[in-house]
Amino acid sequence: MDSKLAEDLADLPALLNTVSAEAGEVLLGLDKRPVAMVQQPQAPAALPEAGSGLHQALSEFRGRWEPRFSGSAGPRYLGFVTGGATPAAIAGDWMTSVLDQNAMSGEDSAAIELERETIGWIGELFGLAEHRGAFVTGATTSNFVGLAIAREWLGEQLGVSVAQDGVGALGPVTVLSGTPHSSIFKSLSMLGIGRGSVQLVSTQPDREAVDVDRLADALGALSGRPAIVVANAGTVNTVDFDDLRAIAALRQRFPFWLHVDGAFGAFAALSPEHAHLVDGLAAADSVCVDLHKWLNVPYDAAVQFTRRQDLQVRAFLNSAAYLTAPTDTPDFGHLVPENSRRLRALAAWFTLAAYGRAGYRDIVQRNISCAAQLGEALTATGRFRLLSPVRLNVACFTLADRPTPERVHALVQAIADTGETFVTPTVYNGIPAIRAAFSNWRTTSRDVVRAGAAISKAAEGIE
Ligand SMILES: *Cc1c(COP(=O)(O)O)cnc(C)c1O
Repeated sequence: MDSKLAEDLADLPALLNTVSAEAGEVLLGLDKRPVAMVQQPQAPAALPEAGSGLHQALSEFRGRWEPRFSGSAGPRYLGFVTGGATPAAIAGDWMTSVLDQNAMSGEDSAAIELERETIGWIGELFGLAEHRGAFVTGATTSNFVGLAIAREWLGEQLGVSVAQDGVGALGPVTVLSGTPHSSIFKSLSMLGIGRGSVQLVSTQPDREAVDVDRLADALGALSGRPAIVVANAGTVNTVDFDDLRAIAALRQRFPFWLHVDGAFGAFAALSPEHAHLVDGLAAADSVCVDLHKWLNVPYDAAVQFTRRQDLQVRAFLNSAAYLTAPTDTPDFGHLVPENSRRLRALAAWFTLAAYGRAGYRDIVQRNISCAAQLGEALTATGRFRLLSPVRLNVACFTLADRPTPERVHALVQAIADTGETFVTPTVYNGIPAIRAAFSNWRTTSRDVVRAGAAISKAAEGIE
């Protein structure tokens, strides 16, 4: 054995204590660390011929890298939709690495049973108890898998097998959606269906939610040809929700697969006041729910839910003489793009075991009220205006005076330079804008005050 490996093995418990102390310092220091700073790239170091051992590697990481990482796990990082990691989620993630299970199949371990238990819990949170699910690496992959099942369903409707004969057997495919996330286009490209298959349907006036009558018209124009509808439960700009119940009801008139992208919006189900936004979610054929956003588990985790796991197996079947053939409860290797896979369910299991439904209701409700508070605080300054009501956990705003691309870009930069908070730019209705998204378990109304003050101050310096 390499001498450094042997030394680390002999010293393992002490080394892990050192790592744990370092982790504690990072976590407790999150509040003081700049939220996000643009970093100058540095030249990469050479690969060491002889290693220096874990202790030395840790101190090199602390010196060269860790200070240059963002505070994205902290309470005032409001860019994109970014969750942190709860204490229990971190513990679960650590144990995932320690036990290093391969959650592909169940011959040698109860790991996949734990994954199924966790999926059951998550399904219950979102009212999807009748769906079956699988862990994947993020909402993009969840959308990809959902649309792969949809593709197989189209084949079933048309009497061809896409898994066997390829996507060409389908002929042209129509995907209808109001305001689809970019990952829908990416998924369709990966699936061979093509980005161009998306037909955007008009939204309601001044909304990102689809106009269901126009959707019905578009479906009617297909003259009975089966299609895919992507409904959006939480758009990224204004967190608008399609009327899922009304869309699902259209299936009595037209043949289509209903995929719902509820990456973070599905969490509305946890707040009694907002749960109506996702009424009808359970009627979906496939559902995407991200976990590294609002469940606050570390990257990378999401769940893909479906009512047709039989079609999912057709698309993702991995058969070999030495592997178990799919049964009624197929191994995960037959359900997702990966074969060997990390037990990413464990972090979710830990955090749900530790905080339960009530803990998550608290996080979701607190984040929603923080978004409303920021929206009010920004409007009250007179410097900003909201581009839509704050429906859930995102405030979408712009400069009240001359929101040109240059001024809004300069403002985003100036906000980041404060180190106090971090927001990301967007364009809504053709207007350059900024999104502040709340999905971190630590964020409180004090953070909103600090973030609001930093944003206002940054705006003072904009020409
Ligand atoms: C974040 C997001 C995605 C993509 O999620 P990743 O986890 O980055 O792959 C898809 N859809 C919606 C609505 C999202 O908010």
